[in-house]
Amino acid sequence: RAKELGGRRVEVFAAHMHADVVRRLELAADLQRALLENQFAIEYQPVVDLATSRVTAVEALVRWWKDGASVPPEQFLGPAEDTGLIVPLSEWILREACREVAAWRASSWEIGLSLNLSARQITAPRFVETVESALTESGLPPSALTLEVIEEMLVEDAEEVVTRLSELRGLGIRLAIDDFGTGYASLAFLRQLPVDMIKIDPSFVSGLGRDETLSLLTRTIVRLGRDLGLIVVAEGIERPEQLEALREMGCTRGQGYLVARPMGPRGVDSLMPAGLSTLQETV
Ligand code: C2E
Ligand code: MG
Ligand code: MG
Ligand code: MG
Repeated sequence: RAKELGGRRVEVFAAHMHADVVRRLELAADLQRALLENQFAIEYQPVVDLATSRVTAVEALVRWWKDGASVPPEQFLGPAEDTGLIVPLSEWILREACREVAAWRASSWEIGLSLNLSARQITAPRFVETVESALTESGLPPSALTLEVIEEMLVEDAEEVVTRLSELRGLGIRLAIDDFGTGYASLAFLRQLPVDMIKIDPSFVSGLGRDETLSLLTRTIVRLGRDLGLIVVAEGIERPEQLEALREMGCTRGQGYLVARPMGPRGVDSLMPAGLSTLQETV
């Protein structure tokens, strides 16, 4: 009887597996088509100087417009990574974002660009050359580009990842650790990589003004970053008391819905220096 039950369980498991494999294959095919049919778009979220409210940079965030709706990156980046489609997709994002930010800078607006990297992208052949050519073709100076990495990227191929990123930094490109504080490797990452910036994960920022432990941890991260001479950016600022707490802790930059949501290129156009008053009123 036990055997019978066990056997049935295996069947159920196999049916699950089957559905999962089919779903993944479908998604892979959809992604491939999306790339060919230009269904991807970039939104930009402003990063501001918390003291002056000046926009210092925009972070490029990929969007997939599928059948009239936007699919969240969490739903397709994993499969894109598994199938390798992340490589051509990331190259498109890199070139497009460099071009758009270079155009904003051409109208005397000193903003930088932050880009999220994927592990597979970093270890792909000619990654460094691809970044260099995107800069050359767009005219964006290396110092205006910040590449964001998360510590999971050091899990495999750590040595190669560190080597590639160090080469890029040698060209004058900046490096940031995204989602800082969420994993055990954060501090090891700081030792291995020559980074310029840490971005405090929203899970800390969310507790400001509400949770003593999270507030203490945020304060500790801000101090650590400052002591190491790094730029510290707080992510996920949604409430005014969070902003106040961060300013008081000496955190100098921030990002979040309270400041500005991710927006299309036309939205960024309207933030150009002359139009900055809206942001200044919010912050
Ligand atoms: P991330 O790099 O940490 O980006 C911040 C995420 O938080 C974005 O989600 C942004 O829309 C969201 N966010 C910003 N402010 C707030 C806020 O005040 N409250 C809340 N609740 N959320 C806020 P998004 O665009 O869905 O991206 C999710 C993640 O997907 C990113 O996290 C990043 O890891 C990844 N990602 C996005 N675009 C790209 C890309 O072009 N390439 C790669 N490799 N990864 C990307
Ligand atoms: Mg990011
Ligand atoms: Mg983050
Ligand atoms: Mg994230």
